[in-house]
Amino acid sequence: MPEKRTYADRAMYLKKAVANRRRKLREMVIAYKGGKCVICGYHKYNGAFALHHIDGSKKEFGLSARGVTRSWNKVRREANKCVLVCTNCHQELHGGVTQLPREILGR
Ligand SMILES: [Zn+2]
Ligand SMILES: [Zn+2]
Repeated sequence: MPEKRTYADRAMYLKKAVANRRRKLREMVIAYKGGKCVICGYHKYNGAFALHHIDGSKKEFGLSARGVTRSWNKVRREANKCVLVCTNCHQELHGGVTQLPREILGR
């Protein structure tokens, strides 16, 4: 059978597929990183997490919004240099009012 779907259908399908893939990858990386904020233990909503680079000189990538479209291997490699924090704690870390737990920094 010839392809009956229109270009718009196809575009819509691809858009959904990308959104699903992002959501999936985000869930995977959050689970991989322990599923909760290392500072306050927050674990309610996957959309409220960030990966914070332990070594601040390295580039960060966000888990939120447009974030994750890379392959799982790349995401995981990057995630290994990061800790999972909620966005609240993340802001506080960068604002200098919160420190990472010592056992994480000591590794
Ligand atoms: Zn937190
Ligand atoms: Zn950060």
